[in-house]
Amino acid sequence: MRVPTMLAGVLVLLMSMVADVLAAADVRSVRLWRAPDNTRLVFDLTGPVKHNMFTLTAPERLVIDVQGAQMTTPLEQLSFDNTPITALRSAQRSANELRMVIDLGAAVSAKSFSLPPNQQYGHRLVVDLYDKGAAPPVPATQATAPAQPVLTLPPVTSAKRDVLIAIDAGHGGEDPGALGPKGLKEKDVVLAISKELQRLINAEKGYKAQLVRTGDYFIPLRKRTEIARKMGADLFISIHADAAPRTAAFGASVFALSDRGATSETARWLADSENRSDLIGGDGGVSLDDKNPMLAGVLLDLSMTATLSSSLDVGQKVLGHMGRITSLHKKRVEQAGFMVLKSPDIPSILVETGFITNPAEASKLQSKRHQQALASSIHSGVRQFFQQSPPPGTYLAWLRDSKQSTQLAQIAQGPRTHVVSAGENLLKISQQYGVSLASLRSANRLRGDTIKVGQTLSIPATTLAIQP
Ligand SMILES: [Zn+2]
Repeated sequence: MRVPTMLAGVLVLLMSMVADVLAAADVRSVRLWRAPDNTRLVFDLTGPVKHNMFTLTAPERLVIDVQGAQMTTPLEQLSFDNTPITALRSAQRSANELRMVIDLGAAVSAKSFSLPPNQQYGHRLVVDLYDKGAAPPVPATQATAPAQPVLTLPPVTSAKRDVLIAIDAGHGGEDPGALGPKGLKEKDVVLAISKELQRLINAEKGYKAQLVRTGDYFIPLRKRTEIARKMGADLFISIHADAAPRTAAFGASVFALSDRGATSETARWLADSENRSDLIGGDGGVSLDDKNPMLAGVLLDLSMTATLSSSLDVGQKVLGHMGRITSLHKKRVEQAGFMVLKSPDIPSILVETGFITNPAEASKLQSKRHQQALASSIHSGVRQFFQQSPPPGTYLAWLRDSKQSTQLAQIAQGPRTHVVSAGENLLKISQQYGVSLASLRSANRLRGDTIKVGQTLSIPATTLAIQP
């Protein structure tokens, strides 16, 4: 049934007036997440609200007045362990105003903002409490801090350092990521795989892995790349599980950043849905490169081209190993505009470990055995990449160089003899000792290339022809 436009307008106006008069929004649940340096409180609301927050001292407390709201959930069962919060109280100041008081055991700097509904949650009021010493992020519009360094040089050190890998378990906290059947959450699956991958990497000499997210809390996407940069990471791996409207979709995929647009429509859609979670950060979603002046853009371009080629290389190796233990969604590394892959100087890949929306794949993703197999295959790809391209100054680079010089040293030797065994020929023997066929012939006064099993050949002395 169609309502005439004017009447509809009047209805909307009337309804919004009613909303202003009555306490229209209920606070129907409160959730709490503890990160290493901050505490996040999320108030789930049945509608949008206006709020005002201020602090009071002696004793320290935070007051939040919410217009047009009432508390409909008990607050007693919240646990404030390991947080600066000692209690959370609420009182109805009037029919139209809810006051919430957060009692604090230590001073904090606080930030609050509202979030509109998304696929998983309705209207929310978010309060972030930053521990003393941990500064809240500067809003993008007021950013006065100098731009990030465009290129980070590896630390100059004579010690043989470890290759450092940042493992980023996607989502976390009130951002569950994709949802599978029976309430399986992407954030839990990917954290388990990430921890297993970290364990495998740390067990190997010359490597060190650190988790970007160590528990169940949310980190904005840009902050994740900043954490990797502060670590001095040589590689950034973001671990995710896919979602698709079609539950039949299955298989793992690996992404690198797109240089121009996404390689497929799926990739674009996926990048949009993964990037959407950055809104939860509440600070406008400014991308890394927006901060840099135009001039730096040229340098960034150069750096990004080299970085992207490494990302594609490591991505293809990881995909190759994953293909041995699980189905692949795409056989080649895809490219898309994922926010977390935008570090200009750290090779970065995003691994979609499988479709959590596919019931069969979801139950595999949930199993410890499959999580271990996934972590192990990602590890194999990473190891293959770094063995081939070890960053300068690392133990792995030293190992590769010393192996090469050992091989060269073996080649550079004085005259020796060789007893011919079955299946050998002159060419093969010359190659084995790194001497020319001609010099081998002349050292043994051979006219042709015919040799006999058991024959003793003189091998001429060799010198180093190549720089070690
Ligand atoms: Zn994800």
